[in-house]
Amino acid sequence: MSKLSIRDLEINDRRVFMRVDFNVPLERGRVMDDTRIRETLPTIEYALRHGARLILASHLGRPKGKPDPAMSLKPVAERLRMLLDRELARGENVGFCPDCVGVEAEEMAAKLEKGQSLLLENLRFHAEEEANDATFSKQLAGLADYYVDDAFGAAHRAHASTVGITGFVKKSVAGLLMQRELEYLTKALQNPDTPFIAIIGGAKVSDKIGVIRNLLDKIDSLIIGGAMAYTFLKAQGEPVGRSRVEEDKVDLARKLIAEAASHQVKLMLPIDHVVAEKMENNVPTRFVDSGHIPQNMMALDIGPRTIELFSEEISRAATIVWNGPMGVFELPAFAKGTVKIAEAVAENAGATSIVGGGDSVAAVRAAGVIDKITHVSTGGGASLEFLEGKKLPGVEALTDKR
Ligand code: AMP
Repeated sequence: MSKLSIRDLEINDRRVFMRVDFNVPLERGRVMDDTRIRETLPTIEYALRHGARLILASHLGRPKGKPDPAMSLKPVAERLRMLLDRELARGENVGFCPDCVGVEAEEMAAKLEKGQSLLLENLRFHAEEEANDATFSKQLAGLADYYVDDAFGAAHRAHASTVGITGFVKKSVAGLLMQRELEYLTKALQNPDTPFIAIIGGAKVSDKIGVIRNLLDKIDSLIIGGAMAYTFLKAQGEPVGRSRVEEDKVDLARKLIAEAASHQVKLMLPIDHVVAEKMENNVPTRFVDSGHIPQNMMALDIGPRTIELFSEEISRAATIVWNGPMGVFELPAFAKGTVKIAEAVAENAGATSIVGGGDSVAAVRAAGVIDKITHVSTGGGASLEFLEGKKLPGVEALTDKR
């Protein structure tokens, strides 16, 4: 990695501002899923064990620049206290400040002792955060000596806490989670073990064009599933019934098919489908082959022959990047294709597998194979932009190693 990491810093006795992604679902003041908190625990514990005076900051939801009690990080501070190693969480060691800037934040940050942490209130309670306002950035920076970014999921946004702040601290470094994300994604793009296969699914071709284009000169095979596949099948002149198609992207799909061929990429589309008249559970469904999707039906999942075909290709890969479901995964009737692909990815134990995007991550979890995935990317939007070959502002802003 070309950027400094927290391991390169002498943080003992230093005040460290750590941007984390604690954007967790809350219901009536309860944290409903603490995955994001757990994921950044190694970096938090590393900092505390190395004697940092740790200031944690995050956004949560979209409070539109105003305080909103329903999006307070206070319950997150409580959950953090429960999750942290007991030794690190004892007594007053995990504080909470009801604002992220201002006198109280400054006083609480100044009083922190070695190995103590303080979670600041939601950064987006101030409109200046998303505006990347310089004064606000400076106020945040004023709380600490060093900046650590462990919020990969927010790195594609140039906000005060991801970019602005780096202009006002001595050094800006990647946290352990950020470092891991960058290492896996960079290796996949720059120096992948081959065969390298990309599995792209989900709703829209338009969301994934950038990724497909950027990967074409790197991958050996491209598997396309989900609703996207029907725009491609239509481009090949196949009947798709009432399946979801982006009519204005059919030409583009045709171009991408030609580009794949010119890069000698093996493009694989579904060869059979689960069809139904409605996108609902408990409606009659059946399997049909490509070329035979009835006019009044829509294809909502990949069929068993496709599962077999894709799984076989996946079993031969050395690097696998997967983003987007193979069908309407939210409905159990159409979830099988996605779950089976999750299993196939997990079964290829020799490959480096990288899974990103909410639905694909949910699928590997639902299939019970999340532990067998080499790297589960935490930032949906950020990992997509990275795979598109874009530079992430939050990463660019970190201090270079040399
Ligand atoms: P994305 O956010 O682009 O990854 O797309 C995810 C969405 O695509 C999910 O809500 C799925 O229900 C939807 N989707 C996947 N396959 C299909 C399909 N065959 N027909 C309609 N929607 C689909």
